[in-house]
Amino acid sequence: MNIVIFGPPGAGKGTQSNLITKKFNLFQLSTGELLRKEIKDNSELGQQISSIINAGNLVSNEIVGNLIEKYISNDFYKNRLIFDGYPRNLIQAKNLENILKKFDQKIDIVLKLSVSLKTIKKRISERKNLEKREDDSEKIAVKRYETYENNIKPVIDFYKQSNLLKVVNGETSIAQISDEISELISGIKGWLLSKGQYKYAETNSKIYGSYSRNKHSTK
Ligand code: AMP
Repeated sequence: MNIVIFGPPGAGKGTQSNLITKKFNLFQLSTGELLRKEIKDNSELGQQISSIINAGNLVSNEIVGNLIEKYISNDFYKNRLIFDGYPRNLIQAKNLENILKKFDQKIDIVLKLSVSLKTIKKRISERKNLEKREDDSEKIAVKRYETYENNIKPVIDFYKQSNLLKVVNGETSIAQISDEISELISGIKGWLLSKGQYKYAETNSKIYGSYSRNKHSTK
């Protein structure tokens, strides 16, 4: 089972993906986290993208496309991925479909977390105190929200057409949102039948850091 989760920055994608990975023994593939790790490591890619990310803009489709293909092509993660923060525009949505097809996979469900800009601002100011992300100032937060809004409409339509889209109210509590999401995932046809394949999943299911240094090497 592969899952896409999206919503504006600060919607709780990361928190919810993390909870789903634990419940359903999947792996969280956060393009934002992978990109931030590149910046932290001061890699060539990191240097290339830091100003883009810190301005609240999107990194090129090619860069993120290459990043996710490394994982999709790795049998270890086959049918066990939650895409957190990808796709963010229609080109990426189509790329994702093509890459998955190439490796004999598909998306089973798309979760959209709906949250207002007012709530986002409040959450981001709280997160700034906790995580100190460079791109979490209010001005950049608003910019990131606008970037999201400007690009996501065709993605929503794309997944509506294929009947994969489920909208979740992201304004309620973490536990309530998580319960709603779990129910939706549990309702996927064939999920129970394929459950056995997930029994070997590890406790730490977050894919962290640069793929070349990841312990489940993709090379
Ligand atoms: P996130 O942690 O998902 O909020 O992502 C943080 C930042 O990383 C975004 O504001 C973008 O600059 C960049 N980013 C993350 N995912 C993508 C993506 N799928 N396409 C382009 N840029 C991305």
